[in-house]
Amino acid sequence: MPLAESVVREIAAIVGEDHARTDTAARIAYSYDATFQQYPPDIVVSPATTEEVAAVVRVAHREGIAVIARGAGTSLAGGTIPVDGGLVLNLARMNRLIEIDVANSCAVVEAGCVTAHLQRAAEQAGLFYPPDPASLEQATLGGNVACNAGGPRCLKYGVTKDYVLGMTAVLADGRVLRLGGKLLKNVTGYQIMQLIVGSEGTLAVVTELVLRLRPLPRVRRTAAAFFLRIDDASESVAAIGAAGYLPVAVELLDDVCMRVVEEHAHLGLPADAGAMLILEMDGNDDAAVSAELGAVAEVCRRHGATEVRVARSDAERETLWAARRGTNSALARLRPNRIGEDVVVPRAEVPAMVRRLHAISAEAGLPIAVFGHAGDGNLHPNILFDRQREGEMERVEIAAAAIFRAALALGGTLSGEHGIGTLKKAFLEEDLGPDTVAVMRAIKDALDPKGILNPHKVFPDAPGPAPAGFLATLPTLDGQLPG
Ligand SMILES: Cc1cc2nc3c(=O)[nH]c(=O)nc-3n(C[C@H](O)[C@H](O)[C@H](O)COP(=O)(O)OP(=O)(O)OC[C@H]3O[C@@H](n4cnc5c(N)ncnc54)[C@H](O)[C@@H]3O)c2cc1C
Repeated sequence: MPLAESVVREIAAIVGEDHARTDTAARIAYSYDATFQQYPPDIVVSPATTEEVAAVVRVAHREGIAVIARGAGTSLAGGTIPVDGGLVLNLARMNRLIEIDVANSCAVVEAGCVTAHLQRAAEQAGLFYPPDPASLEQATLGGNVACNAGGPRCLKYGVTKDYVLGMTAVLADGRVLRLGGKLLKNVTGYQIMQLIVGSEGTLAVVTELVLRLRPLPRVRRTAAAFFLRIDDASESVAAIGAAGYLPVAVELLDDVCMRVVEEHAHLGLPADAGAMLILEMDGNDDAAVSAELGAVAEVCRRHGATEVRVARSDAERETLWAARRGTNSALARLRPNRIGEDVVVPRAEVPAMVRRLHAISAEAGLPIAVFGHAGDGNLHPNILFDRQREGEMERVEIAAAAIFRAALALGGTLSGEHGIGTLKKAFLEEDLGPDTVAVMRAIKDALDPKGILNPHKVFPDAPGPAPAGFLATLPTLDGQLPG
């Protein structure tokens, strides 16, 4: 339902006319994310300060308007889709890197600051911000915090939550919380800040962050191990951990990913390989780092690696990483649509999960490309499909449900880093159980009793196991505005 003219005028008075848009172009531009879903907001509001965010949220609270915080819209879970309209709060203008504080090893940023901007600035100061989602050139730190984003380096360095020291957050009624600070230790009161991390915009709008930085390792060494059989690659992943090594990253790519990346980017990947692992070690002592990488490579050889290529220069290292980073975009060449899942299993179960994924692909009659952060058990099975093809969505749904349930059966979970959004919410209770979901609801109701912050996300529509047809309920408009 369109917003009342008086409400639009009130919001425009807070942020300026140019930053409160109800025109069709803006509503379409902010109706997507990186899934296949789409629904337009009624208004797109782009504030410049925490005070503006708070004032806009106060109006939305009074009027009962849904508020969907949005960073770069790279969500792979439907997190920013305005499922039935409302107000998209676009944080792109709040993109300042306010400070790199070397003495306190931290950075102060606005929520819309792009992850790669912080990483580059930190490295120039001899420091290091480890979380590295593949979307880091676009995604924002506010979005990373809201999803508790990860990436290849999280095997050794942990995920975004491990780097959040301080936060400014706007609650559903417009109150502003200033939490934590430039403090490396802080256990005063409940850890509200950590509750907001990973809450996907459902508990508060994050406007500013203090993020921990680490000393920049002086040496990084990278290698790629190639295998004829993906089973051998996934057995190697478990063996590297069991042998007591902690690489920065152990990334898996299956043959589908390798083939499409090679066709796209011509990196010289062997044509007969069934899978590859990208291995990275870091530290301050060149000889020690090289020796550890050699030992990890040896573990791979013992488990069937037919070739190990060690990068001898930064350019060669970049080439190896290009294979991994290019996977997402290269897969688009195979089918027009994909669902990038994000399940996690205990690391020792990676081989069993990979076998199960192949079986699910055969049963559903759909290609499923497998890549991901295998070192920490986080796999991204990508179901590739064409939404326009008759009957294809039904098979996608069967495959997606089977993937979630296979991970749960192996002691795993639905998401390692992308979040739940709309895409996985039907399965939340199967994963967490009704009591945990009830506790989550109680927290949500306490902080946002009117339910205006990112509605229809994370929580299932109904209790119990996911019903058949859960995928068909997601909005897909194909560029057409409703009504
Ligand atoms: C090609 C590609 C590769 C990717 N690789 C990775 C990866 O390696 N690791 C990984 O973790 N993710 C990855 N992602 C997923 C995505 O990039 C991350 O989830 C990222 O953290 C989202 O950031 P964003 O700024 O785009 O947030 P958005 O997509 O805009 O929002 C995501 C969620 O966060 C909420 N949100 C955004 N900003 C705020 C805020 N300031 N306050 C409160 N809530 C907010 C939104 O409401 C939504 O629920 C990838 C995505 C793509 C398209």
